[in-house]
Amino acid sequence: MTGHSLYNLKSLTQEELENLFASYRMPAYRVRQLVHWMYEKRAASLDEITEFSKAFRQELGAVAYISNLQIVSTRNSSDGTTKFLLQLDDGQRIESVLIPDDERLTLCISSQVGCRMGCKFCLTASVGFKRGLLAHEIVDQVITVARYIEPDRRLTNVVLMGMGEPLDNFDEVVRALWRLTTDMGISKRHITLSTCGIVPHMLQLYRQGPEVNLAVSLNATTDRSRSSIMPINNKYGIQELLRACRLIPMSPRQRITFEYVLLRGVNDSMDDAKRLCSLLKGIQAKVNLIPFNEYDGAPFKRPDDGSVFRFQELLTNRQIITFIRKSKGADILAACGQLKYQDTSTLHDVHY
Ligand code: SF4
Repeated sequence: MTGHSLYNLKSLTQEELENLFASYRMPAYRVRQLVHWMYEKRAASLDEITEFSKAFRQELGAVAYISNLQIVSTRNSSDGTTKFLLQLDDGQRIESVLIPDDERLTLCISSQVGCRMGCKFCLTASVGFKRGLLAHEIVDQVITVARYIEPDRRLTNVVLMGMGEPLDNFDEVVRALWRLTTDMGISKRHITLSTCGIVPHMLQLYRQGPEVNLAVSLNATTDRSRSSIMPINNKYGIQELLRACRLIPMSPRQRITFEYVLLRGVNDSMDDAKRLCSLLKGIQAKVNLIPFNEYDGAPFKRPDDGSVFRFQELLTNRQIITFIRKSKGADILAACGQLKYQDTSTLHDVHY
């Protein structure tokens, strides 16, 4: 019997699980055990749940299963980055990227298959949009990769910066965030959600979801320039976006990360750097400058190192914490904004 005609235990609510278990005269603590095994012990099948009797595992297995993502392939980059090509139940494929950095081991996960935001510097836009991921498919990326690397290594951070715009898949992403922070025990301070700026959902996220870190893909300092590279700006302009950032509840030490992809001759002038400082006034901000990763046929160029450093220096001199992000995994096209069809079913992107 295939999994498709069975209940996927990871997609059921707590109440649905309790009702299902009650139908086998199983008390609520058995559901807690199931949740513990699925998310903390990362069980890939009911057979692994040795706390359940063999008879119950068989009975439950006749109507339900534990979902998994299939690892189609992995590719290692010389800088330690690993790209996982993962297959969903319906055959669609997504990618997650494992990024080691000093003490941290970060997993960059996808929230949609494709994306409909159409940012000009991001090749996902040309692939189009297939569908949003379900909450368990978002969480399963973390479980699948964790199973693969444990016990030698442990994930420390999760970033929603892979394929897709997380806030364009709001309900499922919020469900997944709760799952990650409660049942999987990942601290909300170790999770970052990156958005191109769907303003109403940014505020809603902090009303309905755990208070994870926010990264905003800004990339320009005037509406004209931002709209020319990010169509979402026609709907929510820079001032509206920054107003929302000012309303987000934050602890004194917390900061919103502003991602700024430097495109030569488009947004990398000293006037841009000055305007960026004015725009960020009064926001607990830090800035990640990401020199554009050129690829064959790319419509933009990477600025030279000198202008990247001058841009950073101007921001730093005005007390804005600014990092230059090296794009890791460039040799396997796992770096920010790089997406590739390696064959008709293999695609990758990283959301800025
Ligand atoms: S940068 Fe992010 S929001 Fe923009 S098209 Fe790419 S994946 Fe979508």
